[in-house]
Amino acid sequence: MGSFKLGKMTLRSLFGKPATVRYPYEKRDIEKLFPNMRGHVVNDMDVCILCGMCQRACPVGAITVDRKGGDWTIDQYRCIQCAHCVHECPKNCLSMDVHPAEATTELYVTKEHKDMPAPAAKKPAGAAAGAAAAKPKPKLTPEQEARVAEARKKAAAKKAAAAKAAAEGAADAKPADKPAAEAE
Ligand code: SF4
Ligand code: SF4
Repeated sequence: MGSFKLGKMTLRSLFGKPATVRYPYEKRDIEKLFPNMRGHVVNDMDVCILCGMCQRACPVGAITVDRKGGDWTIDQYRCIQCAHCVHECPKNCLSMDVHPAEATTELYVTKEHKDMPAPAAKKPAGAAAGAAAAKPKPKLTPEQEARVAEARKKAAAKKAAAAKAAAEGAADAKPADKPAAEAE
């Protein structure tokens, strides 16, 4: 029984169609055969905000994001098609194309460019202070004004009492020092 099975397999291998194709001369309809295949990463630069999340998420350092220069770069030959960057992208602009990166004898990186809007100019510190100064003071009701005056009066009295106590303390300390000086 075992040898019959083996013979059948051998004959099928000898006369049957090969399971492989002569890639890259022959290509299969990957989209139809493997619709969920992770071929290579593509970025929709119209949506990308160059936040750098994909760069941080990539476990092999295949992506480089230069926000200032407006460049998004991927090394397709370093990428391991884990799709981690696709899941982490906050704008959903990354996707896995079913086709693998082009077969090549020379390694190269894929660079996408986008002109980012210039950052808004910072307001000078003086301008903010001026704006605060220009703000009109809220108007107080007569009752509120009376309360403020009362509080100020109390604070002034407290301050005066503290100053008086400090002066008295200094005066009391002087005679105590004198005998000590005389004893010498
Ligand atoms: S995570 Fe997405 S939006 Fe951010 S830089 Fe990468 S591709 Fe662009
Ligand atoms: S698919 Fe994985 S390895 Fe490739 S760029 Fe994205 S995170 Fe990096």
